[in-house]
Amino acid sequence: MADPKGFLRYDRAEPPKRPRHDRVRDWREVYADVEPEERDDAVRTQAARCMDCGVPFCHSGTAGCPLGNLIPEWNDLVRRGDWERAAERLHATNNFPEFTGKLCPAPCESACVLAISPSSGGAVSIKRVEETIADHAWESGYAPPQQAAVATGRTVAVVGSGPAGLAAAQQLTRAGHDVTVFERDDRLGGLLRYGIPEFKMEKRVLDRRLGQLRREGTSFVTGCEVGVDVTVGELRERFDAVVLAVGALRGRDDSGTPGRDLDGVHLAMEHLVPANRSCEGDGPPEVDAHGKHVVVIGGGDTGADCYGTATRQGALSVTQLDRYPQPPERRDDERSPWPTWPYVLRTYPAHEEAGQRRFAVAVRRFVGDDEGHVREIELHPVEVRRDPETGRREVAATGEETERIPADLVLLAIGFEGVEPMPLLDGLGITLSGRGTVSCGQDWQTRAPGVFVCGDAHRGASLVVWAIAEGRSVARAVDEHLMGTSDLPAPVHPT
Ligand code: SF4
Repeated sequence: MADPKGFLRYDRAEPPKRPRHDRVRDWREVYADVEPEERDDAVRTQAARCMDCGVPFCHSGTAGCPLGNLIPEWNDLVRRGDWERAAERLHATNNFPEFTGKLCPAPCESACVLAISPSSGGAVSIKRVEETIADHAWESGYAPPQQAAVATGRTVAVVGSGPAGLAAAQQLTRAGHDVTVFERDDRLGGLLRYGIPEFKMEKRVLDRRLGQLRREGTSFVTGCEVGVDVTVGELRERFDAVVLAVGALRGRDDSGTPGRDLDGVHLAMEHLVPANRSCEGDGPPEVDAHGKHVVVIGGGDTGADCYGTATRQGALSVTQLDRYPQPPERRDDERSPWPTWPYVLRTYPAHEEAGQRRFAVAVRRFVGDDEGHVREIELHPVEVRRDPETGRREVAATGEETERIPADLVLLAIGFEGVEPMPLLDGLGITLSGRGTVSCGQDWQTRAPGVFVCGDAHRGASLVVWAIAEGRSVARAVDEHLMGTSDLPAPVHPT
């Protein structure tokens, strides 16, 4: 039974971060190492704020956790100090709570009843509780590898090793299938490896979980582009089912803006991937912010990742441009987990470290030098309006004035447009939807029989928690397809 008055006694508290001047000198995670006893006391206090609501909005529904995480249940177990049982209940719905605990923008917290009332002290720190339970699970062996009791003799190929693919692979391996994950990159993890900077999640966290998958029996093949290195015919011959978890990495470009073709103007991933590779020991990054005036265009998660990366690379200055206004003109919608109308302002740890954010501005043109390299950006003030008829957002200039700011490196972090073109899809006869994604039926099966889809490839660029939820759900669909029945959970359904 939860403590119904805990939130009256304790305010929400954030975990301590390392000093800013320390963390910009290395790539380690921004949060401070705290002695285990001190950490546990703080987290048990936060868990004690949970009221165990009759209708826990945090737990599921349109705004809460898509995984259906049993949040009030494990909050109470943590409050009582039962970390082992909390770990068991957490892993019952989430394959990778250490990923969501570090990376998820926490729709559960936005949906928490305590987030609604300003006098309540703020939402329960669910992410922090989740991450600490996961830490306990690894420290104390509460999340051991789970070998399947019986092998089914059925084979499944999972294409892509991001969070959706890994969740599907783990569920299917644990159900007894012979699962092989194919990754076209040289290392496993997809966006978790080459998109997310070390300062948000150190790669050792990913490698630790990959070790568990290997011990359970999942096989991995890296450096292999399915559809090229393994033909579609070979894939069909070797595997009884195929799961496409290929992500949605086609970056949105700014091709209509004069000067886009100048050297030094890059998509965000052209900066983040080499930076992450460099952290893995692959040598200096091809796109390096060192000694440059850096401008990041786009105010979301990926923009913040570029911002923090540029700071650590030793940029002369970092400026992030956002078309939306700065508070108080901007009405923050705390219940929304993701930038929606009228948009959510999120401040990331990277923003505390250096640089500046500019609001209600957009690029009019990129200005280059005689060698064709970008040196400045011409900005103008804008507002974002909602067209009353179409409902679409429109960006409109609010004045004639312009200004120039220095820019030797420009990073476009303005979103993703769907799945990249790939021979595999052509070979399977799969065409993309108008949203640039792979469509499927209610059983997650694409138009190619026995080929399923999940994660960003299906949903479009989204949250890590949705990727895991879709990976778990597609695993059930594949299991049912192969065996006629399944006991695996399906927390979400195709949209
Ligand atoms: Fe606890 Fe908040 Fe969930 Fe209610 S909504 S059960 S207070 S975490």
